[in-house]
Amino acid sequence: MSGFVLWFTGLSGAGKTTIANIVEPELERRGFVVDHLDGDIVRTHLSKGLGFSKEDRDTNIARIGWVASRLSRAGAAVIVSAISPYEEMRRHARSLVEQHSPFVEVYVATSLEECARRDPKGLYAAAFAGEIQDFTGVSAPYEEPLHAELRLETIGRTPPESAITVIDRLEELNLLPVRVESEVE
Ligand code: ADP
Repeated sequence: MSGFVLWFTGLSGAGKTTIANIVEPELERRGFVVDHLDGDIVRTHLSKGLGFSKEDRDTNIARIGWVASRLSRAGAAVIVSAISPYEEMRRHARSLVEQHSPFVEVYVATSLEECARRDPKGLYAAAFAGEIQDFTGVSAPYEEPLHAELRLETIGRTPPESAITVIDRLEELNLLPVRVESEVE
């Protein structure tokens, strides 16, 4: 089976991890070896010690892009959920991956207002109070993707509904195996 990279980008709290966690078992069910590189987890291992300056963010995304390209080349379906706020670094990750495998960028386009309203980790409250520096959308930029393969609006749609939209898009892009009905009853 051919690997690919499914790259979720968007603001903190947009829903990247939540939606990716639903897509992940669905891809496994369809026979893929799946790895999920989640930004928060990567920062406790591969990128431990990196902060949130532009330079550190760029290093973090370059590392994730490199690992994703290796795994997809080996045949895995790789899910990345990381804010990845800079277009240049998303393009860099894409170019590493596309040497071997398709790259599918999903922009989880939840607005700053909605992310701040959800505030699942209390980070927006702290960022608006000035307690966190370089916080994406508040005191650090988020560059909206211009060429994403899919733009997901999450307001008014449940996470499972968003996950179905992602799977549908992968099907459209011919990245999922055709399901052949068994001839043996
Ligand atoms: P991210 O990975 O983008 O930082 P998370 O998935 O960690 O975001 O957090 C998103 C939060 O928003 C979760 O707590 C999720 O339950 C909540 N949420 C509320 N409504 C939605 C929705 N319609 N789609 C996705 N997430 C939602």
